[in-house]
Amino acid sequence: MIYVIGIGPGCRDLMTQEAISAMEDAEVIVGYKTYIKLVEDFVKDKEVVQNGMRKEVDRCQDAIDIAKTGKKVAVISSGDAGIYGMAGLILELITKQELDIPVKVVPGVTASIGAAAVLGAPIMHDFCHISLSDLMTPWEVIEKRLRLAAEADFVICLYNPRSKGRSEHLANAFKIMGEFKDGSTPVGIVKDVGREDQEKFICTFDTMDFERVDMTTMVIIGNKSTYIHDDLMITPRGYTV
Ligand code: SAH
Repeated sequence: MIYVIGIGPGCRDLMTQEAISAMEDAEVIVGYKTYIKLVEDFVKDKEVVQNGMRKEVDRCQDAIDIAKTGKKVAVISSGDAGIYGMAGLILELITKQELDIPVKVVPGVTASIGAAAVLGAPIMHDFCHISLSDLMTPWEVIEKRLRLAAEADFVICLYNPRSKGRSEHLANAFKIMGEFKDGSTPVGIVKDVGREDQEKFICTFDTMDFERVDMTTMVIIGNKSTYIHDDLMITPRGYTV
């Protein structure tokens, strides 16, 4: 049995009850080092298999091999496991290998949802998720999605906005979206959602400070009706108020 668990953005309060129960029920926990740290409370006497980034296929295959022995395995992702997490990969491997192992995907609070609550209500209307990581997606595809999402006036939530190796991506992304997003469009930045050092900043498209953004940051760019009020970012749904 494999539980694919979204553990939320980083604190127990933002885990679902189903995720907590699945963590308790599992005998083995498999995950990326940083995420294992976030769920230390659950580890106790459980077996832990941890490895670094970019070892996703090995990690999932390990989990599958352990599950084949009859143990209950939890594969953990931060946020939601089905959003740039491990759920797809586990299901791809299991279906490709035609294995008969039950899999339960347990949803979690993804970073955009956690960040939106910190900012107020920025994703009240149609929004999309775009990851700026070009490790597995060609940059041209990312550019096209940014351009079309901006043209369609979606609120845009950026995942993987920045890393040491890709410091220019975010500025380039803003250049592309700038064709359609006004300079006054509100932008919300939330670092380390749900973690001890959570920080929030609200600025506009023109005054965006790329230096504030790191790899555990969520960037939310508003649509044409989004506005800032004090320290809140609000996208109207359209109610008459
Ligand atoms: N499965 C995760 C996303 C993994 S991709 C989820 O559903 O949230 C990794 C990206 O998610 C990071 O680069 C960052 O943009 C975002 N992210 C993950 N955890 C975050 C957190 N606690 N605070 C802000 N952004 C976070």
